[in-house]
Amino acid sequence: MSKKRPAKNIPDDAVPERIVIAGAGIGGLTAALALSRRGVASEVFERREALSEAGAGIQLGPNATKVLAGLGILESVRVFSSEPDHLRVHDGQSGRVLARMPLGQWMRERHGAPYLTVHRQDLHRALSSAIQGDPLITVSPGRDVVSFLHRPDGVDISMGNGECLAATALIAADGLWSKLRAQVTPTAAPKPAGKCAYRTVVPLAALPPLLSANDVHIWLAPGAHIVHYPVRQGSEVAVVVVIDGVASHESWNSAASVDALRASPISGFAAHVRDFIFANHVWRMWPLQKLAPVERWTNGATALLGDAAHPMLPFFAQGGGMAIEDAAVLAKNIAGDGTLPDRLYAYEVERKARVNRVVTASKTNGRIYHLDGPMALARNGVLAAAPPGLMMRRYDWLYGWTA
Ligand SMILES: Cc1cc2nc3c(=O)[nH]c(=O)nc-3n(C[C@H](O)[C@H](O)[C@H](O)COP(=O)(O)OP(=O)(O)OC[C@H]3O[C@@H](n4cnc5c(N)ncnc54)[C@H](O)[C@@H]3O)c2cc1C
Repeated sequence: MSKKRPAKNIPDDAVPERIVIAGAGIGGLTAALALSRRGVASEVFERREALSEAGAGIQLGPNATKVLAGLGILESVRVFSSEPDHLRVHDGQSGRVLARMPLGQWMRERHGAPYLTVHRQDLHRALSSAIQGDPLITVSPGRDVVSFLHRPDGVDISMGNGECLAATALIAADGLWSKLRAQVTPTAAPKPAGKCAYRTVVPLAALPPLLSANDVHIWLAPGAHIVHYPVRQGSEVAVVVVIDGVASHESWNSAASVDALRASPISGFAAHVRDFIFANHVWRMWPLQKLAPVERWTNGATALLGDAAHPMLPFFAQGGGMAIEDAAVLAKNIAGDGTLPDRLYAYEVERKARVNRVVTASKTNGRIYHLDGPMALARNGVLAAAPPGLMMRRYDWLYGWTA
């Protein structure tokens, strides 16, 4: 990228627009990059002392990888990703394969972009590398954005160190536990969803040889399910186990013991997958959170983005994807015409219905995954009977999206 490219929002003869982004997670970094590609400068403030590379696996459908391609970073993400061939759905207790739906080449040909599975660290690193040296982006770690006040022509932003910044717009990409959300729109705090997610990443050698390595696998059972898929070109496997139950803490990264899994419905799973889960892995746990759709994503010169705008349960694998989509649409609108509040509102209008549909679909999947008794039998029957391509074509509205 040319270092001499002028910033569109810093014309020679006018007061520059100062766009501040709170949060250098997946959404915040993608937004900065998308703005820069449209010639708009931004400043990103991240609460953590170092840019966070924590996390485990994230799935990126063609709807998200199309955005990454447009930003010119798909190849740098792809070299660390896997491109699974199928989505295999199993009955967790018997181990029987209920459905095998196409991903891989089918997705690429149908939607013009790959379905990738990636370690969050690798995705975050690819985004961080892309913004390094970009003259239109500054990133400041160790800077907590605490609150803001509207002015007629922008926002005054209060930082954790007591400093106050005057900006033209504030993009709150501060994640699930956003402090800024409640200042943008009246809302409650997220509440425990009654399910806990345990995650780990293990070497490929740990995967039972019976299981195809280059597939996404989902194992369904009453009260629990397991998802695992390849990352890092298939050299590692990201595993998430979700069990019904509540825990109360706000972290993506709490250490967890396999004992909780041994005492859960996972103990009734088919032996090969159960033994895989009960092997000696390092587990992290986070209690899943729910929040009713927030009324407004924007308020004057402030806008919410990603999990700050729409926390979602992970049962549709779209948390990262929706933040990436938000970033592309936000940048398109900010680079457009009109007052900044109008441009931010246009972003909200363009995004809300689609994201709410994804939030609802995620919630529904969560219920379907843990069904019991006759309802579980009915679910299994439908999955086994449906032609695989037809099942995937039902999601054209999701994966066929373009900014
Ligand atoms: C450490 C971590 C690990 C994760 N691991 C996984 C995982 O394994 N699997 C998965 O599916 N999803 C994971 N996620 C969530 C996933 O990244 C998001 O759901 C999704 O990518 C949406 O991205 P986002 O940018 O909205 O939020 P996030 O990626 O959560 O980013 C929010 C960022 O804002 C920063 N921040 C918060 N408050 C402030 C503040 N007041 N001022 C400045 N900065 C602030 C946070 O430190 C964080 O860097 C993880 C998130 C984090 C932060």
